[in-house]
Amino acid sequence: MTNPQDTPPTLTTDAGIPVESDEHSLTVGPNGPIVLIDHYLIEQMAQFNRERITERQPHAKGSGAFGRFVVTHDVSAYTKAALFQPGATTEMVARFSTVAGERGSPDTWRDLRGFSLKFYTSEGNYDMVGNATPVFFVRDPLHFQHFIRSQKRLARNNLRSNDMQFDFWTLLPETCHQVTWLMGDRGIPRTWRHMNGYSSHTYMWMNAKGQKFWVKYHLKTNQGIEFFTQDEADRMVGIDTDYHTRDLYETIERGDHPSWTVKMQIMPYEDAKTYRFNPFDLTKVWPHSDYPLVEVGQMILDRNPTDMHTEIEQVAFQPNNLVPGIGVSPDKMLQARVFSYSDAHRARLGVNYQQIPVNAPRVPVRSYSKDGVMRIHNVTDPVYVPNSYGGPRADVARYGEVAGWHADGDMVHAAYTLHAEDDDWGQAGTLVRTVMDDAGRDRLVSNIVGVLLNGVSEKVLQRAFWYFRNVDKDLGDRVEKGVRAGQVGSQPTSAEQEVNKVRAAAPVNV
Ligand code: NDP
Repeated sequence: MTNPQDTPPTLTTDAGIPVESDEHSLTVGPNGPIVLIDHYLIEQMAQFNRERITERQPHAKGSGAFGRFVVTHDVSAYTKAALFQPGATTEMVARFSTVAGERGSPDTWRDLRGFSLKFYTSEGNYDMVGNATPVFFVRDPLHFQHFIRSQKRLARNNLRSNDMQFDFWTLLPETCHQVTWLMGDRGIPRTWRHMNGYSSHTYMWMNAKGQKFWVKYHLKTNQGIEFFTQDEADRMVGIDTDYHTRDLYETIERGDHPSWTVKMQIMPYEDAKTYRFNPFDLTKVWPHSDYPLVEVGQMILDRNPTDMHTEIEQVAFQPNNLVPGIGVSPDKMLQARVFSYSDAHRARLGVNYQQIPVNAPRVPVRSYSKDGVMRIHNVTDPVYVPNSYGGPRADVARYGEVAGWHADGDMVHAAYTLHAEDDDWGQAGTLVRTVMDDAGRDRLVSNIVGVLLNGVSEKVLQRAFWYFRNVDKDLGDRVEKGVRAGQVGSQPTSAEQEVNKVRAAAPVNV
């Protein structure tokens, strides 16, 4: 039998023209110079020089997979969105990521994980740009860019800096709930399969009668929560920087399909005004005892991409992709993201990024957008509205109700009005005192001390002790004690200590 490798298909140029040689450039005689008319060689070099595209600003390192969302419980009383109706199954794509690291950075750095979803619904694409945590560091988008910069790199030496991170965090106490979460066990998931996803943001749901509800999404891992300790994660950085990427890919390849149970917290519209916490403040959760979880369905990932670049690097999630029955809320961070994500995609992928197959909806597109770089689908006349030539019009009767809320007042630069129990520290304190156990609290202290011992100035240290004491007095005291004990004498960095430990165990003969 003939080996298929003996008769490979004919190599072509990008224009489909058979290539004359893939072994030798075209030269004037065997030893002569290469000629400019070797168009195949030139195409290879030019294409290669243009392979890299701008990486995402945050969330650059990540991977993903395709799957489906299956509704198992009836929530039609709360939303008319087609993808949440009984019996619906919707194709989808998910991307998981770290926030601060660049495209080649280690998967197991302590960081938040992105948990982005795109559902190809019968009413157009619905995107949820979630995280593996129910809260976020800041509640006003004016702080967002500065937060990300503080996580990235210093101007003077391109190094990440614990001093910069803690300087920013401790000057903004609203960060403490998310920082406490991050420094605890959930800050390094064992794999992406072993973490929950949360919308974090509050959204509006609207049912067929026009009744409105405030909702938060919880995607609970069916694999169980598992985490890496700092030590385990540090070791994994040296063994496999792409550990989470590899785990997801290989698990799906062997037919073991990870899944999540999708649950909702649902708050009646009127409750928001008088609820004890501002329900739109992204630094807060809604305690489960106030708004228990309502089950909706299952999300299953069962298909790997075949080209990471076209299907994952170019996938563009945007929280403004909201289908009828789902709207935004007074959450100021969400309102900013509704603009900034699609803006980032236009900058990174070009204005026609929604025509890239992974981003294209599975329903007809009848917008009046035209032209622009890399437009693929033909535009037909009329190219303006209103027109008298049968061009598409908005279906006001069907979709006219706006999923909005009453708002009035003078234009101000102001914080949210406080609700009865709003403060920056309380929910972080609850996390430490009532959710974590003794072993978890010990790891929390050890993780914080480990970071603070690496390059944090005395000025910022003082503020960090104050910050964690406000979260929990005992936590702050233990952090200060741990840092002061670690500072005795001239200490090498913890990375140097690790190397010294390894050398002591197995001396290197020079
Ligand atoms: P509950 O006791 O009802 O819920 C606590 C939740 O905390 C658990 O259900 C679990 O949520 C999550 N959790 C468990 N271990 C950890 C950990 N080591 N690190 C982070 N989260 C953990 O209490 P409340 O709803 O009253 O919330 C109390 C505190 O719990 C909050 O202040 C918040 O910090 C945290 N929390 C609350 C969530 C919420 O939406 N109410 C969600 C997650 C955390 P899960 O099953 O989602 O993993």
